Amino acid sequence: MNESTVLVIEDDIPVRNLIITTLKTHDYGCLTAADGSEAIMMASSHNPDVVFLDLGLPDMDGIDVIRRIRSWSNMPIIVISARSDDTDKIEALDAGADDYLTKPFSVEELLARLRATVRRLHMMTGGSAADRSVYTNGKLTIDYSAGYAALNGEELKLTPIEYRLLCLLAKNTGKVLTHNYITRNIWGRSWDNDTASLRVYMTMLRKKLDSPPDSPGYIQTHIGIGYRMIKVDES
Ligand code: CA
Repeated sequence: MNESTVLVIEDDIPVRNLIITTLKTHDYGCLTAADGSEAIMMASSHNPDVVFLDLGLPDMDGIDVIRRIRSWSNMPIIVISARSDDTDKIEALDAGADDYLTKPFSVEELLARLRATVRRLHMMTGGSAADRSVYTNGKLTIDYSAGYAALNGEELKLTPIEYRLLCLLAKNTGKVLTHNYITRNIWGRSWDNDTASLRVYMTMLRKKLDSPPDSPGYIQTHIGIGYRMIKVDES
C-alpha cells in the first residue's frame, strides 16, 4: 500500500486519465485539478505529497501556479509539459519546480520520477537530513561540519569551489538545479561566463567523483539546463 497522495493538475482529459489510472494502479492516492485556480485551492486545502503540474493551463500559466504554491509550501512539484524548449524547463525549475517530464512521456518514466521524488521526500523528512551533519549516498560521504568529503572511505581531494558545488548538489539530492541557481549560490551572481566556468568546475568534480569504473554516476547532466545529484540505491 502506498501512502503518498498526488495532485494531478492537467486540463487535457485523456492525459489526466492516463496519469490517474497509472497512479491508482500503483496504489497512490489521487487528487485532480483542471485549471490553475482549482489547483492552488486543492494544493492548499489537501496538502498533497507530490504535485504533477501541466504548464499549459486554461486560466493561468503553470509557472504562476508554481510561484503561488512556493509562497507557502515546499511540496515537490513535477512539471509535465509539451513545451520541449529548455527555457521553459529552466523557468519552471527556477520558479521552484523539482523535476520535469516532457510530453509525450512513458508511464514507466512517470512512475520513476515519482518514486525518486517520494524517496527524496522521505530522506529529507526522516530524521531531518537537511540538519544532519553527515551526508551519505551510496559510497559518498560528506561531513559538513568537518568540511570533508570521501568516496569509498578515501578523502576526495577537492578545491573549495568543487567542495561547495558537491555540498549544494548533495543538499538538493534528487532535484535538478539550474545553471543559474548553482552560479547564484556559489558565486552570488549569474553571468554568462559563470555558466562557462561552472561547466569547467563540474567536469573536474565529476572526474574525481564519477570516474571510478564502479561509480554509479552520482551527478547527472541535463544539457542546457543544469545538474542533479542522484540518490544511489543501497540494494
Ligand atoms: Ca494543457
